[in-house]
Amino acid sequence: MLSYVALFLVGYSIATIVWYLNHRFIFHGRLGKLPVLKKFTRLHTLHHQNPYNHRRSKFIFIPWWGHVLLFIVSLPLLFASPVCWLGALAFTGVYRWRHYRFHEADASSKHHIHHAVHHLIESNANFSGVHPIVDRLFGTDYPRVHPTVIGHKQ
Ligand SMILES: [Zn+2]
Ligand SMILES: [Zn+2]
Repeated sequence: MLSYVALFLVGYSIATIVWYLNHRFIFHGRLGKLPVLKKFTRLHTLHHQNPYNHRRSKFIFIPWWGHVLLFIVSLPLLFASPVCWLGALAFTGVYRWRHYRFHEADASSKHHIHHAVHHLIESNANFSGVHPIVDRLFGTDYPRVHPTVIGHKQ
């Protein structure tokens, strides 16, 4: 049982790091200019271009072809360990839910401020989205800002 829990957590951690690397080096990096990745990167660019309000949410959701692509990319992990793959799948659920909440309804949380800084102050920092500890590990954590800096009232 313990090994299943460990495998699940390994899968969750792998997906967390892969997402971070994707966000940093594809969505905000030169790799995103490669023809095969351009369409995927464009969605993230649109997510950044809209104001930090509900209109941005239109570009939060991954289109069907993105799900197919992610599934294909995750196949090696599925064949290596289905439990590990489930851990990675869990990360995508947590990410999607929390990211949506940051933009829609959870403006007061510490993690929201971390993500808002990525959108409003420095897009070359805070790539992890929902787990700021990953940015701390990779040295891309933006110094903490006061909530008023990103437009919150006292
Ligand atoms: Zn966002
Ligand atoms: Zn971004």
